[in-house]
Amino acid sequence: MSRKDPTPATLKALFAKSGNRCAFTKCSNAVVDDLNIFVGEVCHIHAVLKKDARFDPSKTDDDLRHYDNLILMCHAHHKRIDTRADLYSADSLRLMKSVHAAQYDHGQFSVDTSVLTQAALQIVQDDWEPHLDSAIEILYYSIQRERVSQGEMNHVSSNVAGITDAQLFVTYTKLFKKLPPADQLDLYREQQEWRAQRDVYAQKQIESHGGSLARLEYSEAFSEFTKLRIEDLKKRITFA
Ligand SMILES: [Zn+2]
Repeated sequence: MSRKDPTPATLKALFAKSGNRCAFTKCSNAVVDDLNIFVGEVCHIHAVLKKDARFDPSKTDDDLRHYDNLILMCHAHHKRIDTRADLYSADSLRLMKSVHAAQYDHGQFSVDTSVLTQAALQIVQDDWEPHLDSAIEILYYSIQRERVSQGEMNHVSSNVAGITDAQLFVTYTKLFKKLPPADQLDLYREQQEWRAQRDVYAQKQIESHGGSLARLEYSEAFSEFTKLRIEDLKKRITFA
């Protein structure tokens, strides 16, 4: 658990006062469904990251993970308050939360460990981004000299293709995490199809069939195609 993640005790308290309803005014969406699946979201009033909603640099990690900074909502309302932070100030959200909690003062909604685990689960922490660009730079640097063999060129380009693919994997996972379940399934299928297309595309770029350049041509096309996909998915993360 990162120092920024809420503790199980904090999550338990949040659920207890939620009445198993999204805290957004008049929303009746459950946060835990009849199969004990956590379908809601733990939202931050002040975001953890600078680029996100209602970020306040004066907040410490302890403030960010504190009960007072968290609010349980359905996916649609989480998206609404974070996308239009201009309409939903920290004060207005705290008010919304306290009015909602007052309604459920008596009905203590209790959840089991499975729900707490689901609520604490983050596939990829938002502030975790491996710096693979420099690994690619070093690979290219290693062939910046005279008399580089075809074998070395092939080796470097196929490694760059692998690293670029890893960068795509990270971006894909981050987007996946931000989507509601129905859209996750669409993205999964789309990605499967895209991977098949990438292979077809890269195969087509091979001009020297049977020659020693074939592997280089394939890897370079593979990397180019992958980079475009990374850019596309990154844009979609911003709007998800
Ligand atoms: Zn809602």
